[in-house]
Amino acid sequence: MITRVKRDFRVVTLSVLLFCSGSPSVYAQGSINLPDFGDSSGRLITPEEERKFGKRFYEFINEKATLNKDLEVHEYIESLGQHLVKGSDLSQAPFHFFVVMDPAINAFAGPGGYIGINAGLILKSNREGELASVMAHEIAHVTQRHLYRAYEASKQLSVPATMATIASLLLGFVSPELAQAALIATQAGNIQYQINFTRDNEQEADRVGMQILSQSEYDPRNMVAFFETLQNASRLYGSGPPEFLRTHPLTTSRIADAAARAEKFPRYNEKDNLTYELIKTKLELVEQEDKPRQSSVVVDSDAHNTGLTGVQSLAEQYKQALIYSKTDQSRQALSLLRTLVQQHPEQLLFTTALASAEVQAGNITKAVSIWKKAYQSAPLRLSILMPYVQALLDNQQTAEARELLQHAIWNGARLPALYKALAQAYYKQNQKAQAHRYLGEYHHLRGELEEAVTQLRLAAKTAQDNFYMTEIVAEQLKQIRKEIKGRKEES
Ligand SMILES: [Zn+2]
Repeated sequence: MITRVKRDFRVVTLSVLLFCSGSPSVYAQGSINLPDFGDSSGRLITPEEERKFGKRFYEFINEKATLNKDLEVHEYIESLGQHLVKGSDLSQAPFHFFVVMDPAINAFAGPGGYIGINAGLILKSNREGELASVMAHEIAHVTQRHLYRAYEASKQLSVPATMATIASLLLGFVSPELAQAALIATQAGNIQYQINFTRDNEQEADRVGMQILSQSEYDPRNMVAFFETLQNASRLYGSGPPEFLRTHPLTTSRIADAAARAEKFPRYNEKDNLTYELIKTKLELVEQEDKPRQSSVVVDSDAHNTGLTGVQSLAEQYKQALIYSKTDQSRQALSLLRTLVQQHPEQLLFTTALASAEVQAGNITKAVSIWKKAYQSAPLRLSILMPYVQALLDNQQTAEARELLQHAIWNGARLPALYKALAQAYYKQNQKAQAHRYLGEYHHLRGELEEAVTQLRLAAKTAQDNFYMTEIVAEQLKQIRKEIKGRKEES
């Protein structure tokens, strides 16, 4: 018997409405009138400003909410997002996708193309197409510049104050309590703000979202299906509609409208997506971690008899293997994962889970060889590179680890952990100046500017007689000091 643990979606009703997010018209009641939305694209905000606000927005969300740190989950959502962006009118614009570890069923689009998707929404979706439909809707909010029309609505305020307010309001899509606290902290705390999603904005996002779906070879009917899922969830878990749902409901007419429109698109035969199911499994396990003793759900070996599809049955086996790993039952984990890898050598999530289990069992050399093969098939995936490099370092293959890290950095990878691992490799090779330099870069990327300065100073001190290094470090210090100055001016 397979027990699907019923999840506690505390804020489901609120988030149903919030699914229709990303297009908050921000206005102060009374003092600022709703404007006549004209074409404001690019007039009020330069691309550089937009990039900066996007980054700030992301840092803000990162500070207030729990973001997913699992590279495999990140790569999945990012690649699905970028695939959809290719089907949009802004295929060249920068977009960033990330998962918020929150059970509320929600997604939101912030400035600079930053799109957040809650774990609760991914778990609630029934197939990849449904998840894609929400993401396409959010991408549409960005391509139609709904946020900047809202920005224009509040142009009497200074730019940073407006953006801080927008960020705080968007936090409401993650969790209402967080947003309230954040709003009080912003300069706009003394003004009564309200989020108002115009129906036009929402319907436009639905319409454009369907075009994006179709051009990305997903059936637009998925959007209608997910609307229905949300409505049912609202009915099941809701305890009276919150304020926002009363003013901006997911109306039957909106659903009917979407359904009629979807019928005009060709049908696509979407296959069951194994990677999607496995990512959901990972998120489900993280969610269960907070709930003691529920993770010991045992998978029946007759899983194929319980009406699961092929991919769902594989996902159940994967889940069981991950549970074995988490509970230190290496032997069972290894046996299950070896079978899965044998059956599906192309599925890298099985391969990486097997390599991790080998490490856990103390078979580091075996793990290194598994990762090496995985790396060769997908050299740009940090979810493979990072644990691979760590295994190499643990296995005293420092030079190889360093070379792989350098290669990734040359190819433009900017993950802070990459720089930390590189510092570790240099440190092992007793090259202290380089170690401090890359540790400095690690802190820099994390926005920890003072710590970055400390490390770079140490690097400069250690590199005294190395002219080349001294120059590089001096240049980096100059850059960071400029950023520190810029921050002070803004605050
Ligand atoms: Zn929306």
